[in-house]
Parts: sequence; C-alpha cells; structure tokens
Amino acid sequence: MKIGRLTILGVGLIGGSLALALKKRGVVEQVTGWSRREQTLQKALELGVIDRAEPDPGAAVQGAEIAVIGVPVGAMESLFRRLAPHLEAQTVLTDVGSTKGSVVEAARRAFAEPPPLFVPGHPVAGTEQSGVEAAFAELYQDRRVILTPLPGTDRDASSRIRTMWEQCGAEVVEMEVAHHDQVLAATSHLPHMLAYTLVDSLARMEESEEMFRLAAGGFRDFTRIASSDPQMWHDICLANRDALLVMLERFSADLARLKDAIREGEGEHLKQTFLRAKRARDRFCG
Ligand code: NAP
Repeated sequence: MKIGRLTILGVGLIGGSLALALKKRGVVEQVTGWSRREQTLQKALELGVIDRAEPDPGAAVQGAEIAVIGVPVGAMESLFRRLAPHLEAQTVLTDVGSTKGSVVEAARRAFAEPPPLFVPGHPVAGTEQSGVEAAFAELYQDRRVILTPLPGTDRDASSRIRTMWEQCGAEVVEMEVAHHDQVLAATSHLPHMLAYTLVDSLARMEESEEMFRLAAGGFRDFTRIASSDPQMWHDICLANRDALLVMLERFSADLARLKDAIREGEGEHLKQTFLRAKRARDRFCG
C-alpha cells in the first residue's frame, strides 16, 4: 500500500517513529506534522521525520489520506474537537494512545459519534525516552500493534491501518476496547506503577544516594521504565483508572500474602511463588 499524504498530529517518539518507519520503507510520499510547540516541528523537519510543518491541526489534516494522533491520552479530546470541523470524508483517522476506552469516549464527546473512518489503535512498543529526537524507524519491527475497531468502524479503514502497521514490521491484532484496557492494565500499566513506586520509595530514604550507587543490574532492569515521561503516565493512570485499580488490588493482596509468608517463615509458600513466577517468565520469554 502507498500513502500519498500522511499527517502526524503529535510528532513525538511514537508518531515520529511511525513516520520514519513508513518513509524508510518508501510507503509514504509526504508527511505533514503538527505539534504543540513550534520547536518540536522545527526539530522534526531538521531530522527528516516530517516534510511539511503545519502549526494549525485543522490545516494539517486537509487532504490527508491517513491522520495519526500521537499526543498524550489526556490531550486527545481537545485535539479531536479542533479537528472535527476540518476532517474530510476520505481521511482515515487513527491514534496511538496507550488506553482505548478513554480515547473512544473522548472521540464520542468531540464528534458526537466516532467517525466511521476512525480506527483506535495502540502500538505496544516504546522506550523510556520521549520526544521527536528519540524517534527511530525500527521501533515497530517485530512488535505488536493492537487495533480496537468499533462496531461502526469501516472495514476498509481498519484494513488500511492494519496494512500501514504491517508495513512498519509490526504484527497487528484486533480486540475489543475494554479487553485492551484490562490486558494493558496488567502487563504495562501495573508494572509502571511498581517501578515508579519502588524508585520513589528508595529515593525518599535518607541513604538513597548510597543505595542507588550500589544498585546492581537487576535494579536497573527492573526500574528502567520509571524513567518514562511522568505526564504521559499521569494521563494513562487516570484514563484507565478502573482496570488499573483492579490490578493494583490484586497485586497488593499477593504482596501482602508474601509479606506474611516472610514474617512467618513459610519457606514453602516462598519457594512455590518464586517457582511459578520463574516458570511463567521462562516460558513467556523463551
Ligand atoms: P512524546 O514523545 O512525549 O510526544 C508527545 C507529542 O504530543 C509531542 O508532539 C508533544 O508536542 C505532544 N503533546 C504533549 N502534550 C500535549 C498536550 N497537552 N496537548 C497537545 N499536544 C501535546 O510522547 P510519545 O511517547 O510519543 O506518546 C504519544 C502517545 O503514544 C501517547 O498517547 C502514549 O500514551 C502513546 N504511547 C506511548 C508509548 C511509549 O512507550 N512512549 C507506547 C505506546 C503508545 P510538543 O513536543 O510539541 O510539546
């Protein structure tokens, strides 16, 4: 598939990497970018991530075959509202937000009914870096992208977005919005909460400097994601509050049980827990 005109609204790590991936593979002829700050647009032009900078989002989507929203999930509704009067009938609209229920609700509020050519999406790929400078063409290679088309979503529009991601090297899966939010609460949102809380707990201890100096590779591996953008994660937690709270309750109960086992010296409980976890992770990583 060739894309004549692609518009990226929010040219950061995720939107910028998509533009680079499609350009590298010769899929797209022209990429127009809109971003909140002028300096981001200038940087994106300099780095060759976009070909044309447009300071107005409505003007940026004029004539676009595909428009991709790459702003934090808490900023989507106001961007949808700015786009609503300008979206043309042929433009397929998609987003890359980490939560899907909140984005679909935002689209409902902004457009009255989500447009049939709106295909909610989420590339399950990223790094702890952010900003257009961090964008790279291989980000989606061998990674998954989840699409959550709605009952009214046009099948051709979904299939164009599927093909676009496949052309970046990704494997595309489809699921329902609520299921996406439950799965991601467990596998992405909960781990980010654990990493942020662990680092913050230690950072607030008096001897934190010495502890961080002596921390080994395991600590680095486990806490890498605590370097992710705080604003983005603020938005995700609040946007997926219900599913995340379910997972936090469940995890807190398991942690409380582990604490009891340590206090009571229940070695068998500890061994069984670690063994189940090791087997599950070895299988999943293997
Ligand atoms: P990013 O690198 O920080 O880029 C964010 C983009 O959104 C920039 O263009 C920024 O504009 C713009 N922006 C930030 N705040 C805004 C606001 N309040 N109003 C309008 N525009 C705003 O972020 P990212 O990592 O690409 O994430 C973008 C989206 O992808 C988010 O919805 C996130 O949930 C999702 N996502 C992220 C990851 C990940 O690992 N990072 C993975 C999958 C999905 P300026 O630079 O001009 O300020």
